[in-house]
Amino acid sequence: MTDWWCEHAWLGGDAVEPGVMISVDDGRITSIRSGAAAVGASNRLSGIVIPGMGNAHSHAFHRALRARTQRDRGSFWTWRDLMYRAADRLDPERYRALARGVYAEMALAGITSVGEFHYLHHDAGGRRYADPNAMGHALIDGATDAGLRLTLLDTCYLSSAPDGTPLNDGPQQRFGDGSGARWAERVEALHQQVKRKDVLIGAALHSVRGVPVEHMPAVVEWAEAHAAPLHVHSSEQTAEIEQCIAAHGRTPTAVLKDAGVLGARTTAVHATHLTAEDIGDLDATATGVCFCPTTERDLGDGIGPAPALLETNGLFSLGSDSHAVIDLFEEARAVELDERLAREQRGIIGASTLLHAATVGGQHALGWTDAGLLEAGARADFVAVDLNSVRTVGGGATPEAVVFAASACDVTDVVIDGKIVVADRRHVRIDVAKELQSAIAELMT
Ligand SMILES: [Zn+2]
Repeated sequence: MTDWWCEHAWLGGDAVEPGVMISVDDGRITSIRSGAAAVGASNRLSGIVIPGMGNAHSHAFHRALRARTQRDRGSFWTWRDLMYRAADRLDPERYRALARGVYAEMALAGITSVGEFHYLHHDAGGRRYADPNAMGHALIDGATDAGLRLTLLDTCYLSSAPDGTPLNDGPQQRFGDGSGARWAERVEALHQQVKRKDVLIGAALHSVRGVPVEHMPAVVEWAEAHAAPLHVHSSEQTAEIEQCIAAHGRTPTAVLKDAGVLGARTTAVHATHLTAEDIGDLDATATGVCFCPTTERDLGDGIGPAPALLETNGLFSLGSDSHAVIDLFEEARAVELDERLAREQRGIIGASTLLHAATVGGQHALGWTDAGLLEAGARADFVAVDLNSVRTVGGGATPEAVVFAASACDVTDVVIDGKIVVADRRHVRIDVAKELQSAIAELMT
């Protein structure tokens, strides 16, 4: 049994509690007491302690593109050419090294679970590796090194347009399994190999562009049989929606509904351009959504209808997606601040709602239904946020200080499943900047 005394802790409400003692045994919280003195605690955490954050949408290799895709003012083509260049040079060894650095960067930012939307499966010629899941294992090893939990959302990606056009020659060949059934066979092998308490194998459909409707049931059935999370990119850009309507006469959400994809274990990633009917379908099926505002603004995608989606039955989560930045506080406040710009009005979504999205929303969307809350029985994930940094000092101990003032570099300490992973702003095992530097240099030179 270990006791952690927190100067303040956010227990899910509109305020924070002072002097909170959290007792932990075998990686789980056994009790929480507010108004406690620090006497007798073996560990002390200053500032505000929040639950571990869940990063519900990640493509680890996109981290290699940061700041490069913004050169020449950053057209869509600069982004895609560089993304394919990085994809072309990745192999399992390089992928593990990069993922280790990226996931360690996430740990430093207070992220305790990540959902990796993984479609880079095969070698540069599009052939399966000797172990067809070698790239998935590289990501799992990277997450293990970095000390956070991973939901590997193995992604079915078969086509390049909603009318079923095959994947292009070149890097796209690395993504495809040929059919939904072949995808399910490969992922089942991975599922059988990975029996871990800190790794979940989930499923993903790339998008209505990337998976022809006749192949969707194989993925849905695999996820159903394993009660696994099922994620899908949906309604990110207007061009995708126009192509989908041209091919199917329906919006992407309607196509997914008719294919049986929507449901309480499903997360629609982006959900930016939705009709009222789409929102009704997400609500009726309790489908979750994941917003990735820093990526959506970097790509010029648009602003999704967060207030309406927060009213639905589904989970609302956040992801750093392309890792233009890795900072879930920034993602959280962007949901509200983008809405203010769009409406020319303040005060639409409160700080505690946004913090819920970054913590329990993300954890549950990734299948970690016992994480994301500071309560007895939950996984012992804590994140301490400094209230005395140049960014946060003077703002008081409130959820607003965390959501609207803090940045990822104000995270001082991170505990994941009861283990210290970040102490005093440093990862306990990894020199993160140094390792990212060498992993990215391998890909981008
Ligand atoms: Zn994505």
